[in-house]
Amino acid sequence: MDRVVILRYGEIHLKGKNRAFFENLLKRNILEKLHGVGCRTEFAYGRYVVSDYDPSDEADIIAKLRTVFGLFSLSRALRTTADTDDIAEAAVAICPKTGKFRITASRADKTLPYTSVMLATEIGGRMLERYPALEVDLHSPDAIVYIDVRDKNTAYVFSDSLPCAGGMPVGSAGKGLSLLSGGIDSPVSTYMMAKRGLKLTELHFWSYPYTSIEAKNKVIELARILRKFTGSTELVIVPFTKVQEAIHKYAEPNYMITLVRRAMMRIAERVAKNRGCGCIINGEDLGQVASQTLESITVTNSVIRDLPVFRPLIGFDKNEIIEISKKIGTYETSIKPYEDCCTVFLPESPATKPTIRRSEANENKIENYAELIDEAVDDAEVVVIS
Ligand code: ATP
Ligand code: MG
Repeated sequence: MDRVVILRYGEIHLKGKNRAFFENLLKRNILEKLHGVGCRTEFAYGRYVVSDYDPSDEADIIAKLRTVFGLFSLSRALRTTADTDDIAEAAVAICPKTGKFRITASRADKTLPYTSVMLATEIGGRMLERYPALEVDLHSPDAIVYIDVRDKNTAYVFSDSLPCAGGMPVGSAGKGLSLLSGGIDSPVSTYMMAKRGLKLTELHFWSYPYTSIEAKNKVIELARILRKFTGSTELVIVPFTKVQEAIHKYAEPNYMITLVRRAMMRIAERVAKNRGCGCIINGEDLGQVASQTLESITVTNSVIRDLPVFRPLIGFDKNEIIEISKKIGTYETSIKPYEDCCTVFLPESPATKPTIRRSEANENKIENYAELIDEAVDDAEVVVIS
């Protein structure tokens, strides 16, 4: 008898012919997550089973696996042979000592000398013998003991099932570029699109010395926290100071934010294409601030030529976003008080209904605008988050 963790996957079941592709990716992501942990991972009978680990590592293994997108639930189980004595020993080891219970038994191998009902009756009887305070209740049990017999050498006995992160395996939906500020929202939008299977590269605009080394380190820290969901990734840091200074120098003050965001999108599209990303993600949320009105988003979006821009938070309330950021562990870092480049040269009354025509007129006033954008793209620094 040995301890194992059984992993079940969710939506992949829906994928028909592509199923092998999804399963292989999921397997790769599971192996990446368990890298360095002494254990064996095998694919058996439509599920993954992690075994041969030191029991003191079990909690760590489970915590890691619960952040792998594509996994739906997991169970700690005892693995035995199909022999009823072995199964009974395992059932007695994991079952509650008191209260109502039922057994749910299944048997894949129809050549075994018992039916599922016979097995459940036999094992239930052994449990009652050992713990007389137990009571069988098929309809509203407090606990269910599952016995899943696969073949004569393999049966799994378990009673718990912990939810995992759900979603699709990272990488199954292609690659995306996620705009990561130091704020609360963009780590959440990054998490959400990783959950839908995108392999992400992150992009941060940094305006040193208006924004500090600490502000940059905070974003690196956020990317590191997100790594447990995104897998290893790269954070591209674009030096944005010259672009912002030029906009500040030449543009109308109330168009400052609009132009900054348009420049960000132009650079983002270039970086995305250079790095093979098929979409851009940001943490915009309709109506939250001046730059996120419908008009502002229209004007910002209009500089993007080819790629879709995903805004997974568009319909969320701030408190809903905060709740997710706490759940994924980014909140405490996000609220550290280092400024983002969007707060540099902030005008008193930013345009909330900017137009494309006036944005372009302002951009045309900026000396060497195209060169400044080129330079920002070329001078990007890449931090590997592995
Ligand atoms: P966040 O909490 O993510 O900073 P926000 O509510 O503060 O969002 P904005 O500052 O207007 O909103 O930014 C909107 C989105 O633009 C962000 O969610 C992020 O995706 C992107 N963004 C803003 N600043 C930066 C930056 N310095 N680097 C990269 N992306 C940025
Ligand atoms: Mg922000």
